[in-house]
Amino acid sequence: MSSPTSIPSQDGTPVTTWTTAARAAASARTAAPALAALSLPERASLLRGLSHALGENAAHLADVAVDETRLGVERLQGEIRRTQVQLEMFADVVEAGAFLDAVIDPADPAAQPAPRPDIRRMLVPLGPVAVFSASNFPFAFSVLGGDTASALAAGCPVVVKAHEGHPRLSDLTGELAADVLPPGALTVVHGREEGRSLVTDPAVRAVGFTGSTSGGRALFDLANSRPDPIPFYGELGSLNPVVVTPAACAARGADIVREYIASVTLSQGQMCTKPGLLFLPAGHGLEDDLRRGIAAARPASLLGPWISTAYRATLDDLAAHPAVRPLHLAEQPDDPRAGAPALLTTTAEDVRACPELLRECFGPASLVITYTTPQDLMETLRTLPGGLTATIQGQEPQDEDLVHRLTAALQAGRLIWNGWPTGVAVTAAMHHGGPWPATTSPLHTSVGSRAVARWMRPVAYQNVPEKLLPPPLRRANPWNVPQEVDGSGQPGGGR
Ligand code: NAP
Repeated sequence: MSSPTSIPSQDGTPVTTWTTAARAAASARTAAPALAALSLPERASLLRGLSHALGENAAHLADVAVDETRLGVERLQGEIRRTQVQLEMFADVVEAGAFLDAVIDPADPAAQPAPRPDIRRMLVPLGPVAVFSASNFPFAFSVLGGDTASALAAGCPVVVKAHEGHPRLSDLTGELAADVLPPGALTVVHGREEGRSLVTDPAVRAVGFTGSTSGGRALFDLANSRPDPIPFYGELGSLNPVVVTPAACAARGADIVREYIASVTLSQGQMCTKPGLLFLPAGHGLEDDLRRGIAAARPASLLGPWISTAYRATLDDLAAHPAVRPLHLAEQPDDPRAGAPALLTTTAEDVRACPELLRECFGPASLVITYTTPQDLMETLRTLPGGLTATIQGQEPQDEDLVHRLTAALQAGRLIWNGWPTGVAVTAAMHHGGPWPATTSPLHTSVGSRAVARWMRPVAYQNVPEKLLPPPLRRANPWNVPQEVDGSGQPGGGR
């Protein structure tokens, strides 16, 4: 192992880094064939081992995370549990084998318009994956988070570019992982330049990124500028509009406002799913509830000075816009790392005229937009950028027609009915993604079992003798994985 060197973190504290991107990528390349060749139970047991290691060290890890991120200890303990559940879910996914998508079309000499050869198709690992972890989820979207868990499930080694908002925690988590995994299967590197080098390293075959739209775009462009462009899955920022219908506003406006403020201020608003826009009918009569509710939310420490600086600057810009009126804009605290919650308001017509109002303000702030008619609302929704989520607060049955029109107009990866977007369940059906600029690839999710598909590519085997085929494609099915045989359309037909 190389000698450690020191680099400064966001807050100036030196961070010890044990390896460079080039060395980490080379180790990952060496580790890749053996990792890909593990049996499914062996791969699953590595994922369970990682979950166990997190659980065993949860108390210490949570303490370090509190110190570095200033997120609450309960929230962080919950996040560790969620990260364990995620790892265990991918262990189950690996064991079940359906993620290999094994399809067998036997030869058919009588096929029309020409005889057909034996074709068998499955997914294979892409190779080493670079993962850029997020600042706001130091466990669930970090060193052992969903990108890493899904890449290991696919059989790909991972090099994590640590987020410098929690460098010590990243190293500690990486050390725990190194005790569980084969050498080279997971390495942590630090520093912006090392991150850029990873994206262009010939050994790296795909990138997962969770962070800002600007950072994601810069690295996406870098991945595409390689002589051999590679897939780049960026999960970026989102406005997460919430539309309240006139009927819902009349029936339960005060409750909606209370829940909205709780969602906006959850984890100090540092959620990619924070509701950044609330559409209310003009004359809603809820301004006092909105003001009182947000004024009761205390200013709190944000993840780091780089977040609070950006939060204050974006909020100041929005509040100074001639089309915007503050509903509640408290003075920012003296502590430069803290952010005071805020609500601003404008009209749907002004949003159409001033698209610069449609900006993510990462932190505890949101924009209330009033609309006059369903047409005013629809026209404005059509101008919104793609999002991770969109929410409708409506009433049944009176809103049915309106809701059909709303769901057609809203461009988001997840549509929520009478709920709130913060909180992303880790399930097979979850989709945490969406059209640009929410992500760089609207086809994929970074949460839930389908996230594994990002790190695999299909290979079709034509007329390959049974004993030379990978086990999942053999008719004897020694791994007992689901196989779709002869166009049955039934994954699981082989079981
Ligand atoms: P960030 O500033 O984009 O940083 C993320 C990572 O990208 C860091 O490792 C950073 O490296 C690196 N990076 C940023 N710009 C770069 C560039 N130009 N070249 C090379 N590397 C670059 O994001 P953040 O401040 O941590 O997080 C806040 C943002 O993340 C918000 O917009 C939020 O909505 C979004 N987010 C999205 C999701 C999601 O699932 N979609 C989840 C969480 C957060 P250094 O730290 O070394 O500079």
